[in-house]
Amino acid sequence: MERKRAGIPESVKKLYSTDATVIDSGKIYIPEKVYFPVTEDEVVSIIRSAYRKKVPLYFRGGGTGMTGGCIVSKPKAWVISSEKLIKIIDLNLTDEYVDVESGVIPDELNSYLNQYNYFYPPAPASSGFSTIGGNISENSNGLNVFKYGTTGDWVREIRFITGTGEKMKLGGKFRKSVAGYSLKDLIIGSEGTLGFIYSAKLSIMKIPEAVSGFMIFFDSSLEGIRFVKYILEIGLKPSIFEYIDNYSIKSVINYTNFEVPQNTKSAVILKFEGLITEVKYIEIFIKEFLSNFELCGHLNTSSSDGFKEIMEFRKAISPALFSIERGKVNEDLVIPISLLEDYFKFIKTLERKYKMKIAVFGHIGFGNLHTNIMFDPGKKDQVKTIQMLLDELFMFVIDNGGSISGEHGIGITKKAYLKKEVGNVTYNIFKDIKKIFDPRGIINPGKMF
Ligand SMILES: Cc1cc2nc3c(=O)[nH]c(=O)nc-3n(C[C@H](O)[C@H](O)[C@H](O)COP(=O)(O)OP(=O)(O)OC[C@H]3O[C@@H](n4cnc5c(N)ncnc54)[C@H](O)[C@@H]3O)c2cc1C
Repeated sequence: MERKRAGIPESVKKLYSTDATVIDSGKIYIPEKVYFPVTEDEVVSIIRSAYRKKVPLYFRGGGTGMTGGCIVSKPKAWVISSEKLIKIIDLNLTDEYVDVESGVIPDELNSYLNQYNYFYPPAPASSGFSTIGGNISENSNGLNVFKYGTTGDWVREIRFITGTGEKMKLGGKFRKSVAGYSLKDLIIGSEGTLGFIYSAKLSIMKIPEAVSGFMIFFDSSLEGIRFVKYILEIGLKPSIFEYIDNYSIKSVINYTNFEVPQNTKSAVILKFEGLITEVKYIEIFIKEFLSNFELCGHLNTSSSDGFKEIMEFRKAISPALFSIERGKVNEDLVIPISLLEDYFKFIKTLERKYKMKIAVFGHIGFGNLHTNIMFDPGKKDQVKTIQMLLDELFMFVIDNGGSISGEHGIGITKKAYLKKEVGNVTYNIFKDIKKIFDPRGIINPGKMF
């Protein structure tokens, strides 16, 4: 039997109509029904019923998406929540995978795996309240993306239900296969537009033996970038490789008790993980080559707890930026490493032109930089000009071979730019694929395309 929360009040249903997207996302509707299935067959039955009646369908995990993927943009829609799909179905330590339902929360999965000295690495910063289904749909990544990659790199199999209610098993428990088109990879990052993820088999790995963490403070933004390029040139593979700009540093200092050396204008955080001997060697090596850079100082720790303190600084950035302005639009752009200096110069040009501050921090190893446009929501002229600023920013990234999203996806907020990034032919193939999985166009209508 299909389960719905019978007679749930409109005020509760309203909670299932939005997500964590902060910009004005157009008309939002309270869903007609919200379903909380507990089996795969229940999901099938709800989707088949929606297919027959041509009802708009929205899938929802933790609702932490930042591009409007869970925003109910059509009237009389149904929402399927994975809130009750929280079983850990199987754990296989020999083949190193865990099989989970899509509503499992990554932190809870990791607490479970830690008992066996294992972990699932690609948990995003929202790992305490997002879900595996949402993480797969957005192909999310955590701060350790440079070494461990994105969610997709850890997905072996997906059990999936299409827009007509067909069950599919994509991939398998194996570690390697080249049998046919990899449809599993099509579902990863498809932002809930092709069907519902019921469960997934995910690769897991042993918790590394040793860690070494650094936070290095530079006297200019360019010196920080020079250091980043050096790390990449010599081929080191830190798990965490983060860049923090001057605005972000100053706002964390204003907002918390952290102190940084005087004259710091940028900082880089590095974390190395692996065997004790390997990590020790890298630590000595880094300490030696730091003398080649204009530093204001550095911190180093070999303990996980010590590194947690460094990460407290990094995690404080997002909330601390509100001490600069009350409003913030956080874009997750990707820029080729060879163009980092040009990107930072371009940001300064935009700041001067639009008279707004732009704070930049993030996963520098991949050139995936959170670019935060700070604005005053009370100033109507600023609110109006943000879209013009974003337009220039996105076009700079696209024209220079970067990407409009390295983390949060397209959703409704960036769909105008998707065609520009991928080109007409690819864009039309995307639309054809959507029709195969969702012939009546009922799933997440209006998202991504
Ligand atoms: C404070 C904060 C920190 C964040 N940090 C990061 C970060 O470090 N890295 C990062 O990549 N992102 C981050 N995000 C963005 C967000 O957490 C991720 O996109 C996350 O993967 C969304 O998961 P969710 O379960 O909340 O998905 P939801 O927001 O519920 O849904 C996201 C999309 O997935 C679809 N979906 C959800 N479940 C399913 C399912 N079972 N089957 C099919 N489709 C489904 C939805 O329809 C929607 O389109 C952050 C967000 C917040 C608010």
